[in-house]
Amino acid sequence: MRKTGRIVNGFRQKPLELEAIDMQPTEDTMPLVNATSEPACALLPEELVELLSTMGQPSYRARQIFTWIHKKGCCDPSAMSNLPHPLREAIGSLGTSFPAQVGESLESSDGTRKLEIKLADGRSVETVLIPEGNKLTQCISTQVGCAARCRFCRSGHAGLLRNLTAAEILAQVHLARPFHASGQILRNIVFMGIGEPLHNVEAVARVARILAHADGLDLSTRRITVSTVGIVKGIDRLGELLGGDIALAVSLHGASPETRALLVPGVKETPREIVEALERYPLPQRRRFTIEYVLIGGVNDTDRHARELVRLLSRIRVKINLLPLNPHDKTELLPPTDERVLAFQKVLIDKGLTAILRKRRGADIGAACGQLLGLGKTKRGRPADATPTS
Ligand code: SAH
Repeated sequence: MRKTGRIVNGFRQKPLELEAIDMQPTEDTMPLVNATSEPACALLPEELVELLSTMGQPSYRARQIFTWIHKKGCCDPSAMSNLPHPLREAIGSLGTSFPAQVGESLESSDGTRKLEIKLADGRSVETVLIPEGNKLTQCISTQVGCAARCRFCRSGHAGLLRNLTAAEILAQVHLARPFHASGQILRNIVFMGIGEPLHNVEAVARVARILAHADGLDLSTRRITVSTVGIVKGIDRLGELLGGDIALAVSLHGASPETRALLVPGVKETPREIVEALERYPLPQRRRFTIEYVLIGGVNDTDRHARELVRLLSRIRVKINLLPLNPHDKTELLPPTDERVLAFQKVLIDKGLTAILRKRRGADIGAACGQLLGLGKTKRGRPADATPTS
């Protein structure tokens, strides 16, 4: 059979055809609400108060338990030394422990660390710790797989398997604690790992509230970022749930409906509809949305694409992160040339936009954007063999 597809930089590119795409559930067919009832380790203090009041306990006990779990990182009731012994025993069955374990751990030459998080049903996801001086950013996963099926993303190539519960999302932060180097402080949490956070928006909002709570990790809401492929109902719902408090990044990748549909076939909203949702979003004064744009050689990286992006974003406050495609074994798409990246960035900057080239971290252990996998079985790190070499 004759092979089709252009040759770019010596690699044959699969022709991008919409018809060839196996559509996964969209936001219309997927429940936005996670119906799982969460264990004690994923309850907010006020919910713990309610739970403990049914056991005849005063409200300050709830705060003590929340502090043990989320501030001190201690989930073992028998070690919660300021609780009376009968209460320590009684809360044993409420789920104070996170329902996951660390599997494999890989460290990159740049200090980035990727952890496999093994879930109770045998599936796994991944989380990444990214140091910058003594500050740490942690990238966390929200689903096993993903329905958006971005053509360049490794995490979603097999479609969506299931949502993570809030407890499983929080588990990633908890289980990574022993991997912080001494003196390192967890500063930023980004919901940028495996999955589409706004297809699991109720759990994500719960996790954000718990991470920001003053009796827990007390992270600044500005330092918690939800990165979405642009789910309109999810953006609206996140605004309702958190009042625009946490940072929002939108992965756009194309300003025209055609480019967008080609690259993100699992989501039907057009770039214009996504921007309209951002206009409705209660973004605080002096804050900006982040727009993420993966640059792909010969697909969305021309000056015309850049000008379309400028026009689309003219009515909202944004900064743009440009991410040259990270190659991996699940995509035949290719990175842009360095000259194209700079030319694309220049069009944006010349029009007065802030456009930053994102640093790639952890690529040698498959921990860079779009390289995470997880899913059904333990993964070995797939560094060099996953990356085209010429
Ligand atoms: N579903 C969310 C979060 C997960 S992906 C979202 O789409 O935003 C996190 C970021 O990595 C997104 O901006 C995504 O577009 C980007 N990404 C995915 N695959 C990539 C790749 N191969 N190279 C570079 N960035 C990639």
